[in-house]
Formats: sequence, structure tokens, C-alpha cells
Amino acid sequence: MSLYDITNPDLLNLHINGGWRPASDGARFDVSDPATGEVIASVASGSADDARAAVDAAAAAFPAWAATAPRARGEILRRAFELMIAYRDELAELIVRESGKAWSDAQGEVTYAAEFFRWFSEEAVRASGHVQTAPNGDKRILTILQPVGVSVLITPWNFPAAMATRKMGPALAAGCPVVLKPASDTPLTALALAVLMQEAGVPDGVVNVLPSRRSGEVADAMLGHPATRKLSFTGSTEVGRTLLELAARTVVNCSMELGGNAPFVVFADADLDAAVEGAMVAKMRNGGESCIAANRFIVEAGVAEDFASRLAAAMGALTVGPGMDRSSQVGPMINARAADDIAGMVEASVRAGASVLVGGQRPEGPGAYYPPTVLSGLSGDDPILGIEIFGPVAPVVAFDDEEQAVALANATPFGLAAYVYTGDLARALRVSERIDAGMVGVNRGFISDPAAPFGGVKQSGLGREGGHEGLLEFLEAKYIAVDW
Ligand code: NAD
Repeated sequence: MSLYDITNPDLLNLHINGGWRPASDGARFDVSDPATGEVIASVASGSADDARAAVDAAAAAFPAWAATAPRARGEILRRAFELMIAYRDELAELIVRESGKAWSDAQGEVTYAAEFFRWFSEEAVRASGHVQTAPNGDKRILTILQPVGVSVLITPWNFPAAMATRKMGPALAAGCPVVLKPASDTPLTALALAVLMQEAGVPDGVVNVLPSRRSGEVADAMLGHPATRKLSFTGSTEVGRTLLELAARTVVNCSMELGGNAPFVVFADADLDAAVEGAMVAKMRNGGESCIAANRFIVEAGVAEDFASRLAAAMGALTVGPGMDRSSQVGPMINARAADDIAGMVEASVRAGASVLVGGQRPEGPGAYYPPTVLSGLSGDDPILGIEIFGPVAPVVAFDDEEQAVALANATPFGLAAYVYTGDLARALRVSERIDAGMVGVNRGFISDPAAPFGGVKQSGLGREGGHEGLLEFLEAKYIAVDW
């Protein structure tokens, strides 16, 4: 049995208060397959009025949802987890069709996305406060945690399922109703999740999904609505900044997961085979379209050439092709503009003196493809080192000592993920402490885990998702002073 049928026109509408409706002004937008450029669906494009209606629906559902027993909320999330696993292939296919990613990446994403529901189904019963005696003994200090309220969730296209469940899981566990605005490149997975949440038993109005091509207008309407108390955003730092400004007007509580520029530091004493294997995961998961993708390979001079050539061999061996073809390991980029941008970055780096060890040429269309590419011999100020590449390009830059490695790693306004490879545990921990990042992988290239706090420092964001910390983002502490 199918979960979500993209040929059913009702399900290509806005999902508000448990129902499906077109945009108030009838506007729609096309969703395309990045492997072919073909239009696969036309989806309702929510207006500012629709955005306000969605927040109204969430606000109406809030009291009953907040009063629902945490165990009952957890059990709904548990069912959502089980449904996602049961429909894994169908959801993976939808993700491949709208985002282009390779089939194995899409399947991995659905599993990862489902795990947020499982984790937060368990966390739903752990929103505990505390009680203490005031230092001067005059009262008890009772601290309780309450749901923050109606939450607006805005997500990017690179993980259409996981970025949504990473927010919906903790919001629902905490007792907050949500309005999810998915990226306009990938609204179909979000609409499928609306169906799935209904099947899991979420009451009407608790999960609203509002696709829209008019992101600015709907964000403005939702953040200007007096019932909205929370914004959880994942996307670029540039859009994040704009949203922080909008949220400032009504002092909405914000969690921001923004851009990255992850350093991948390899010391000469590292196991180079393990480092290349980890580099392939850190760089190539999702075709490089990941906020925690290794963006700069910072390698000790004595092994830099060897590392770069081994990495080039591994990158050159990858099969590039349509995501639906099970043998493809790298799919197309999200759209032609993204592939063109990457081509421009590589050309600028070559002009600045880098050599191309593998890849480096955008193939003729159709499809938004860019080949796995390794650049070496970069200077520390090569322009590509300052940009979030968001594609399958690995620039390698050499360093001489630990001081310089840390300085290069920190030479960015971003601070999301970092990776360190070394055989010396003391150095691994020392360097992990000194790198400005919210997350560090030590001798491993895969760090995502729903049970761990995910997030960045500096301009990579505010707050954490996953772990117990992820739940706290949707709770507010209330202090009650008591005499008894
Ligand atoms: P984006 O910032 O362009 O879009 C993100 C979301 O914001 C989409 O839903 C988009 O429609 C919406 N949006 C765009 N302009 C808007 C506006 N003016 N007002 C309101 N909403 C607006 O990002 P993207 O291209 O979808 O995703 C890639 C970016 O996301 C990268 O920078 C990546 O690092 C980041 N990202 C971060 C994390 C993280 O956890 N830190 C995870 C995934 C992606």
C-alpha cells in the first residue's frame, strides 16, 4: 500500500488543520527532477494569508496538544518512526526524485530521519524540571519546563526528510504544534510526512505543512503572527540572518542551523587509509550537499601529496548518474545553478594556482551533474577555502605544524563541524578543544546521530538539534516561588 501518491492532486496542496487546500490565490509552483530537469509535480504555493491560517490552526491545537500526556505524545512519535521505516523505500524514491541524491543516500536519510522520531518518542517523557531550597532558606524554587508554543519550522532541500523530523520530533515531544515550510525544491517529502503524521495519530492542526515559493512573504506573516513563539530554521547563514531580523520584531525564540565550512585536519601520524576512508564519507555523503561536509582538507605537509592522490583515486572511482539508478554513488546537484556555481568555484581556484587531480569538468546536460573533484597545491588564501562548496569538490591545503593547522581550521566565520585525524589521542583532544566548531569527528568522518547535540558556533548558528538538548529548544523554564 502506498503512503503518498503524487498523482493525487489533493495531496499537492497545503496541509492546514488536518485538511488539504489550494493556496488562497490559487498560486502553484513546479517541482523538477534534477536528473532530467523534467517537471514531476505542481504544488500549491502558500500565500501570507495561508501562512496566518496555518499559525491560527496550530494555535487552536496548542492547548490540547500541550495537555496531552507526554507518554501519549511519545507513542504517536513512536508510530511515526515505525511508519517511516515501513515506507522507507517509497519515501526514499520521493527524495531521489525531487532532490536528485543517490538511492543509497536517500535510504540512509529516511532511516536517519526516522531515528529522530524514535529518539524524541523516548525523550517526550524526560522534560523534567527541578526543585531546590533558596540559598537564604526563605522559599522553595520550583522550576518547571513548558512547551514554548506554536513553532515555525523552515527547512532546506538537502535532507528533505531528516531536516523536518529533526525539528518535528522534539517540537511534538515537547507539546508544541508546528507549521513546517519546506524548501521549494523539495516540498513533496514534507507533504508525504504530513500524511504519515496523520496516520500516526497526530491530531488536526498539530502538524501543518505549507509549501510556498514566496518564502519571504510567508516567513514575514508567520513571524509577525502574535501566536508564533518559536522559529527553528535550517538553511544558509544569509537567509538565517534575515529571519533573525524578522523574528526580532516580536522577540520570537530562535534556533538556527546555518551554513558550514568544515575543516578536515590530517596529521602525519594518522592512519592514512582510515583518513581517506573517513574523508570520502565526510565529503561525499549526499554528494557533498551537506552542511557538515568536509569543505577544506588541511593536511600535514609530509603526507599532503600522498593523501591527495589517494583521495583522488577514491573520488575518481565513484559512479556518477541518476539517483534512481541503484549503481549510482553520486547523483546530480539540486539544480543547474548549483552545478554552475561549483564549476565557477573550481575555475577560480585553478586561476589562483590549484591543480586538478581528478574531475573539474562539468559534463554536458541533461541533468545538473558535477563530477567528484580533488584540487591540490592550494595556498592558504585560495578563494575556495572561504566558501561553502556544497558539492563533490575536495580542496587540499598543506600545513607545517599544529599551530598552523588550528589557525587554518579556524580561519572562517563558520563553526559547524570539524574532523581531526591523528594517532595521538592527546593531540586529537587538544585540537578538538581548540577548533571553533560545535561538533568534531575524531578519526571518523560520520558524526550525525539523533542522540547527540547537533549545531554550530560563530555564524553556523544558535542552539542544538538532537540529543536531550534538542528537546530543550522547544521548552521554556518557568520558575515558581513557593512557601510550603
Ligand atoms: P536556504 O537558506 O536558501 O533555504 C532554506 C529555507 O529557507 C528554504 O525553505 C527556503 O525556501 C527558505 N528561504 C529562502 N529565502 C527565504 C527568505 N528570504 N525568507 C524566509 N525563508 C526563506 O538554504 P538551502 O539552499 O535550502 O540549503 C542549503 C544551506 O543550508 C547551506 O548553507 C547548508 O549549510 C545549510 N544547512 C545547514 C544545516 C545545519 O544543520 N546547520 C543542515 C542542512 C543545511
